[in-house]
Amino acid sequence: MSRVYNFSAGPAVLPEEVLREAAEEMMDYKGSGMSVMEMSHRSKVYDGIIKEAEADLRELMEIPDNYKVLFLQGGASQQFAMIPMNLMKNKKAAYIVTGQWAKKAFQEAQNYGEAIKVASSEDETFSYIPDCSDLDIPEDADYVYICENNTIYGTKYKTLPNTKGHTLVADVSSCFLSEPVDVSKYGIIYGGVQKNIGPAGVVIVIIREDLITEDTLPGTPTMLKYKTHADADSLYNTPPAYGIYVCGKVFKWLKKMGGLSTMKERNEEKAKILYDFLDGSKMFKGTVRKEDRSLMNVPFVTGDKELDAKFVKEAEAAGFVNLKGHRTVGGMRASIYNAMPKEGVEKLVAFMKKFEEEN
Ligand SMILES: *Cc1c(COP(=O)(O)O)cnc(C)c1O
Repeated sequence: MSRVYNFSAGPAVLPEEVLREAAEEMMDYKGSGMSVMEMSHRSKVYDGIIKEAEADLRELMEIPDNYKVLFLQGGASQQFAMIPMNLMKNKKAAYIVTGQWAKKAFQEAQNYGEAIKVASSEDETFSYIPDCSDLDIPEDADYVYICENNTIYGTKYKTLPNTKGHTLVADVSSCFLSEPVDVSKYGIIYGGVQKNIGPAGVVIVIIREDLITEDTLPGTPTMLKYKTHADADSLYNTPPAYGIYVCGKVFKWLKKMGGLSTMKERNEEKAKILYDFLDGSKMFKGTVRKEDRSLMNVPFVTGDKELDAKFVKEAEAAGFVNLKGHRTVGGMRASIYNAMPKEGVEKLVAFMKKFEEEN
């Protein structure tokens, strides 16, 4: 068996320990005589799995009791519609557009009401986070929407926007569980798990209870109402059962590692290795404003497309894979999520140094 260093933005690297455990339990989950993949989601065994996953997530994030945790499907992208369908009581919402995903959410919301762009960093290809301390947010806006970590561009909010009392909704797909968060500052925190938590197919939505109502936009399908899933503890229909099981294992791994404060320290340490190298390099350059740099996604360029391509190719041959930047940005991007070991980043930097010397 040979494993590579996988710098993919998502689906992404998972802890080896988790993969090994899942492999061991593949044929016979704890004496049940079957794989979790083959198990009824209504069985007692599975009930234990999903309840424990929720309890561990609550513990890790210190989720207050007045928030529900929902395990849903449809990808983060389905939330782009589900959020306005459930929250746009006044048919008005404020969007801060800091990248492709925020832009897609903003565009989708326009199908359901008045989505207002209150700030954007598109003027400089999303290379920074705009000042959100005093935005012009309409009084009757139902919520303020952000994408907290911009996976493609590699920026992250270091302070949350001043929503002026409005409900904050955040897509945290690519920074989920990378550091402690104060859940009480948000109305909804959600993310697809395939970036930093588990296998594709699960979306976790953490939602304040008062936002879960029958009063959704007319025509909202049953499956797209938060209330449907909240009332049924995420078992209204068949959930992405195996994916939730793997997420649960990752939660246990995170607890064992020391929880989210420890992850934050580790992630800062890892990111520093890469950013320090980029800041000192004559060949490679980071592409975003220093104060807005993400700990999870690190885009960089040489300034020469052919050299970029050569680097990506040689890196892959050396066992550092998925370093090609997003198709809309070019260059390179190293995603260094929770499960990427420090050693992987150190070795990548050593490889970059060598490449710089030789080219
Ligand atoms: C990947 C990603 C998405 C899209 O996720 P899907 O599950 O593919 O719909 C949305 N937002 C962010 C921040 C992402 O990184």
